[in-house]
Amino acid sequence: MNYDKQKYKVWNWKSPVILHWIINPGLVVNELILGQTIPKVMLIERTGKKPFYQRSLVPCPHCGELHLGVKYSVQNKTALKNWYGFYCDNCSKIIPVQRNLTSMIVLALTFPIWGWFHKTLKQNWLDKQADRYKSINLEIPEKKNSTKNWLKKGVLFGVFMFVIMQIIFPLIEKEEVTQKSILIGIPVWLITGLGWGLTMKWWMNKKGK
Ligand SMILES: [Zn+2]
Repeated sequence: MNYDKQKYKVWNWKSPVILHWIINPGLVVNELILGQTIPKVMLIERTGKKPFYQRSLVPCPHCGELHLGVKYSVQNKTALKNWYGFYCDNCSKIIPVQRNLTSMIVLALTFPIWGWFHKTLKQNWLDKQADRYKSINLEIPEKKNSTKNWLKKGVLFGVFMFVIMQIIFPLIEKEEVTQKSILIGIPVWLITGLGWGLTMKWWMNKKGK
């Protein structure tokens, strides 16, 4: 599809956020278990005083509708369980999403198991979507966007990544979890988490030109 490049910055796999989604192996958990995902194409309004999260749009390639990114968010309970993609509540089709590389490998290897049920699972999932988008709120309350909240999210993200990368991954790969690896891991992931939280806050509130 062609988008108005004067009006929107077009994000695809070459943009850092989506590229990060592809290469970070830890995101396999978010994608395959939680059903968190990212669209293949995002549009960012270039101008306007609105903060970033209100300038990011998810275009539907089937009907051309531009959905506000906030439609697919935690506050609308639509950020997760999007295993097959983002549901377009305008044309009832699925907006394609960018898969994480590790997820693709896992999916390919386990295809003989889930391949049989794929159609049924997908249809069941699709049947449930319309209900999820009945009462969507596109305004984010100011409170939810406070620094304290982002710090909390950052710390939680750090803890989550720590558990996955320092404990669960080594266990799966039968590597030893040592005191040293844990002692190094705590500050590393705490700083990463906080950095992530603050970057997200700055970025989500960043105004257009
Ligand atoms: Zn659509």
